[in-house]
Amino acid sequence: MRNLGLLLMTLVLVSCGGGEAPAVSGETAAPKKVYKWRMVTTWPKNLPGLGTAPERMADEIRRMSDGRLDIRVYGAGEVVPALEVFEAVSQGTVQMGHGAAYYWKGKVPVAQFFTAVPFGLTAQEMNGWLLHGGGLELWRELYDRYNLYPIPGGNTGVQMAGWFNKEINSLEDMQGLKMRIPGLGGEVFEAIGGTAINLPGGEIFTSMQTGVIDATEWVGPYNDLAFGLHQVAKYYYYPGWQEAGPTLEVIINKDAWAELPEDLQAIVESASLAANTDMLAEYTARNNTALRELVDNHDVELRKLPDDVLEAIKEVAKEKTAELAAGDDELVQRIFDSYQQYREGVIEYHEISERAYINARGS
Ligand code: CA
Repeated sequence: MRNLGLLLMTLVLVSCGGGEAPAVSGETAAPKKVYKWRMVTTWPKNLPGLGTAPERMADEIRRMSDGRLDIRVYGAGEVVPALEVFEAVSQGTVQMGHGAAYYWKGKVPVAQFFTAVPFGLTAQEMNGWLLHGGGLELWRELYDRYNLYPIPGGNTGVQMAGWFNKEINSLEDMQGLKMRIPGLGGEVFEAIGGTAINLPGGEIFTSMQTGVIDATEWVGPYNDLAFGLHQVAKYYYYPGWQEAGPTLEVIINKDAWAELPEDLQAIVESASLAANTDMLAEYTARNNTALRELVDNHDVELRKLPDDVLEAIKEVAKEKTAELAAGDDELVQRIFDSYQQYREGVIEYHEISERAYINARGS
């Protein structure tokens, strides 16, 4: 009996890892270092698409890093106002931000190329330029001046030209209109006789309702329906000449970035690029049903901007875009040249691929 007892005890010890068996509990490993970051955004908290993308990205990063990089996401105004995201990340008040480069045009005019310029690249074309056409390297060189590291972090696809409280039949009808329209699109709008105002998304509805502005562009049916813009304007115009495929940005303070181990850096890069693709897929799927709801259930008047209005806007857009290359900053010149050269090439090929196919497919 005693021998049997000893034998059983030995078996129990071995099976508990008490013998020479390799330790599996990890009790000798150093405790994992957890990085706690804050990400501020230019979007209202949890706004469909724009606001949910950074939340999803933070969840993915937490999951992929097994909790080692824990990012808390803040909506516009929770830590800093929407239009102060760039400064807050640049100065290290927070580690990370999600927004759009053209919001910073007052400080960095050429940054607009990394979101959208009027009659510029579509989402698919932007991704080509940024990820395989030299665009992202130039973007990083530019943002390095502000101690920032950018990664593409979303795209809405072609937007709508916007909401108007009257019909637009000619350029005359644009005269004197006060419109919320950011970036270079706003400058073009001013050049054709309007007044452009740069408001963050969260202030658009009230500004329309109280008559501070007469017109606004925001995104497209999916987001515009969520904001209830059909309640404050009747006419909904297309196409979104001002933003054919705006890239949203993830920006990271470079000191915080340098502190991250390489595997966490790779996780952040991958999660951002996943958000870049996923957002476009979300808008592509949701815009259709949202447009039907706006037209069928809310009696929205859907209109195309007259061709001569679009032609006039295009001429001004060309001049305004070229003005971005003015000055003696050689990096600005390289960004302009890279974008224009790529644009010419991709338009030539897309004539016989994307456009030719969509025309051939018809409805
Ligand atoms: Ca827009």
